[in-house]
Amino acid sequence: MTGKGFNAYEMAQTQFDNIAKQLDLDSATCELLRTPLREYHFSVPVKMDDGKTKIFKGFRIQHNDARGPCKGGIRFHPQESADTVRALSMWMTWKCSVVDIPLGGGKGGVICDPHHLSQREQEALCRGWMRQIHRNIGPEVDIPAPDVMTNSQHMLWMLDEYEQMSGGHYPGAITGKPVGMGGSLGRTEATGFGVIFSLREALKDMELAIKNTTAAVQGFGNVGQHAIELYTRYGGKVKAIACWDQQDQTSYTFKKEDGMSLSELKSITDRFGSINKEKAKEKGYEILPGDQWLSQDVDILIPAALENSITAENASLISPDVKIIAEGANGPTTPEADEIINAKNIMVIPDFLANAGGVICSYFEQVQSNMNYFWTKDEVLGKLDDKMTSAFYAVMELSKKRSIPLRDAAYIIAISRVSEACRLRGWV
Ligand code: GLU
Repeated sequence: MTGKGFNAYEMAQTQFDNIAKQLDLDSATCELLRTPLREYHFSVPVKMDDGKTKIFKGFRIQHNDARGPCKGGIRFHPQESADTVRALSMWMTWKCSVVDIPLGGGKGGVICDPHHLSQREQEALCRGWMRQIHRNIGPEVDIPAPDVMTNSQHMLWMLDEYEQMSGGHYPGAITGKPVGMGGSLGRTEATGFGVIFSLREALKDMELAIKNTTAAVQGFGNVGQHAIELYTRYGGKVKAIACWDQQDQTSYTFKKEDGMSLSELKSITDRFGSINKEKAKEKGYEILPGDQWLSQDVDILIPAALENSITAENASLISPDVKIIAEGANGPTTPEADEIINAKNIMVIPDFLANAGGVICSYFEQVQSNMNYFWTKDEVLGKLDDKMTSAFYAVMELSKKRSIPLRDAAYIIAISRVSEACRLRGWV
């Protein structure tokens, strides 16, 4: 998202430039990797329910495919911009690389607000988006998936349009499909669960028992809800959750000192992850300003909303009790905030490692779709745990060896693999 003075693409490039310098990358590789390989910007006309036609702006940006077809979600958001999609596509390249799956990075989006679109209008938008980009995506080229405010139904409409245009069945062309329609069991839970798999290992390293820890979470959408589900199943206690209030166009922090009930909160939450304020008050929740999730006396912070949420302006709110920040969102912490957090000795499990569970499971979905043979949920989640855990330890080992933050270690591993793939292909 844009936000005052914030540009996600500039942030992604700053992060890349710092590591490129440390790796002493040659100038051609730097130039190749600090910008996307290909960008598609297009208009999507949609016949609205009132009979008028509205033109939506759509994007698909392919950052790098040296290690395999581009992969990444499609976001529906009113503040979507080309620069946000560029940044997210770049982070997808590093994400697939750090967890070592044979995919590159891409991202898509539409500037729209699904709060104000009927189901029929959303279907028309999904099909229209696909008609514009059909030639430039596909199982061997670029594979979309869900992201903020898109879900399995959107993916199925898009796949159906793709298949109608292609004249065949291509279930590997899109992931995050509904279970029973080419989707994988565990895909919905995967990103949130993956965050907690990496958090669990980080806590082990600190010799802290997860059941004795407390957390505050920002975001109550798919990632936040599933992260809370597994964290509480492991015995952790969530004391505060911040989320967006569509009616007031601001966010609030919902607090319950003795821990909150996930099922109770879900019963008063809409499909976009907004908790109903009035009902929460009735159920005894304290309601604080949106940034107060940061100031809670907890061991763990889980930003699971959007980019630019922990900044130089609010990082000082972070309680001295906080030991770990596990980034469920993409780009939640700005480089300036990162410096403040590193100085406080807080461990940050960086976004493109912590939230890689979604794309790992997407990769499993592709494999299952291509075989037309589907695994059990336990098998999927077991393989996901293995992948997340081994990627976490590879990053942790490098971080310890070089006394650098996990984020730098993860970037070094990811960028080295991608630049090596470019070199081996003879691109640079
Ligand atoms: N949108 C998710 C992400 O940012 C998932 C991408 C995918 O499954 O391809 O990682």
